[in-house]
Amino acid sequence: MKNYLDTFNTLKTPFYWYDMDLLDRTLISVKQEADKYGFHVHYAVKANANLPILEKIREYGFGTDCVSGNEVLRSLEAGFKPKEIAFAGVGKTDEEIAIGIENDIFSFNVESIPELEVINEIAAKLGKSTNVSLRLNPNVAANTHEYITTGLNENKFGINMMDMEEVLKVLKTLSHIKLTGIHFHIGSQITDLNDFKKLCERINQIQDWFEEQDIKLEHINAGGGLGIDYQNPDENSVPDFASYFKIFAEHLKLRPNQQLHFELGRSIVGQCGSLLTKVLYVKKGVQKQFAIVDAGFTELIRPALYQAYHEIENISSTLPEEKYDVVGPICESTDFFRKDVTLAGTKRNDIIAIKSAGAYGQVMTSQYNLRTPVKAYYSDKQNK
Ligand SMILES: *Cc1c(COP(=O)(O)O)cnc(C)c1O
Repeated sequence: MKNYLDTFNTLKTPFYWYDMDLLDRTLISVKQEADKYGFHVHYAVKANANLPILEKIREYGFGTDCVSGNEVLRSLEAGFKPKEIAFAGVGKTDEEIAIGIENDIFSFNVESIPELEVINEIAAKLGKSTNVSLRLNPNVAANTHEYITTGLNENKFGINMMDMEEVLKVLKTLSHIKLTGIHFHIGSQITDLNDFKKLCERINQIQDWFEEQDIKLEHINAGGGLGIDYQNPDENSVPDFASYFKIFAEHLKLRPNQQLHFELGRSIVGQCGSLLTKVLYVKKGVQKQFAIVDAGFTELIRPALYQAYHEIENISSTLPEEKYDVVGPICESTDFFRKDVTLAGTKRNDIIAIKSAGAYGQVMTSQYNLRTPVKAYYSDKQNK
């Protein structure tokens, strides 16, 4: 990143910087490993919805996974084919459902009986029929932060297996929707691949159950959740997609002609984005010193929201290392990026890179304190 220091010094901070070569290398790996088994990948747009990023992902032939009507529209704007767009989310509005139906998307991932009924009603009104997959709650605990685990019975997401007979009864009465698959998503930032093995085993049991009910499913959707190495972003810039897809190839028993779909977000875009910020002041406390930077949780909320770890580097300085609490300007005590960070000796106007911020970074920014919307720059474009 230091190679870009001259460019960074001409740009107004804070801003997001996207390494498009790294994004390419990541996408090449995803494609190569998924193609080995004929798996289908949908990129989870909620991780990063910037058009240049979406357009590059589209070039590799992937679809998208959306959690709002606007994400469906953004996917179409970026050139994704409607038949490759999956639409998930516990609280889809009537308007959003209509967007999906009118555009003939691949499938709605449906999370409740009332939602099935509403989709059917809207499809009927539009004189259309639409595909649905049921988002099932596998009751698999993922080893991740409690705020980003989603596959347990007590989570708000998905339908529990014990309600499935009732769901099938209701489905029989709904003539404008077709059940094409089942969908799972057990959480995010999962680094223990054994969690995905447990998911495969659970899906196998659930598939047996559907077979007993004489229901054929065209596809299984295993969701996303593969984690990235926030501690060592330079050494591990591309996640281990080979091992990830291999787990599913080895443990998930697909039926003849059944497709397996994935919805990867963080693992695709996480490492290619950094937040660049300038040091405003270095302030000495009684026991600590603070590097006060011009970005805050309004630009990157992950540390404040779920105590997320990001590598931080002073790319301007070659002075001996010292320890700093790296903090933002927002009027909240949780507005710090990390405490006791070892940085090269830091002074006013140095540029600090906060790494691995490509996923759930720019998309979660806010204008609290009337902050200016943060800009994005891309390594493959002229940046002025
Ligand atoms: C957020 C989400 C994803 C993507 O999760 P990552 O951890 O970023 O891979 C996939 N599917 C659904 C339904 C989601 O909500």
